Amino acid sequence: MVEPRFNWRVLQDGQLPLRPDKQVDLSAEHRCTTLLVWPVDAPPSAANTVVVDPCFTSAGSQVAQAQLAGLNVSFEILRRTFVTHPHHDHLPHLPREMPPIQFQEILFGPEMPPGMKLVHCPGHDFPLMALVFTAADGLPVWVVGDAILDEEWLRAWGYYWPNGYTPDAVAETWRSVARIVSGAAIIVPGHGPAFAVTADLVRHLLETFPSAAYANLCPSVESQLQARLESL
Ligand SMILES: [Zn+2]
Ligand SMILES: [Zn+2]
Repeated sequence: MVEPRFNWRVLQDGQLPLRPDKQVDLSAEHRCTTLLVWPVDAPPSAANTVVVDPCFTSAGSQVAQAQLAGLNVSFEILRRTFVTHPHHDHLPHLPREMPPIQFQEILFGPEMPPGMKLVHCPGHDFPLMALVFTAADGLPVWVVGDAILDEEWLRAWGYYWPNGYTPDAVAETWRSVARIVSGAAIIVPGHGPAFAVTADLVRHLLETFPSAAYANLCPSVESQLQARLESL
């Protein structure tokens, strides 16, 4: 059987004012990355798309509408949702000025579209699940929510979050990062643009991992990154 492949498009461009160096970028809005995924063999419709983390802000929904217009489809096709983790900035939400949509959360199990799978990536939030699928070009895409906030946070081994983390949760975060980097060709993070897993990125992560907080609690991360680098 041929593995199903999917098209994908970032609808809302995720942003985060807080930077890993603790500076605040006042030009950025706090909004999550929202992704539309649909099978390569059909145009996107209410029946065949999955929308990941559809928590739209007013400004973000404008960006999303422009993306949807480019695909020749309307906002109303956004029905079937998948939420990476139950933080308020990822749960289905529409700004007041938009007509309501009956979002239906896909229950993973029998309803899970063939060709999509979930990978548990705890740390940032224990229940966090990454959605994984194969893109049209055959490459694995991992939609990881806040397991990785954006590429800059990843490169900084940054984990600051007002939730207050235990050392074990930080180590769990790094194990999830290693799992994601090992499996993904493209990462769609929780609050930034999609980016590719390149040899340059993995080399940087390997070089800087020893200075990550609590790196001593998760030594397997280094060997996983080393194996990934050798595969690139
Ligand atoms: Zn978030
Ligand atoms: Zn979160």
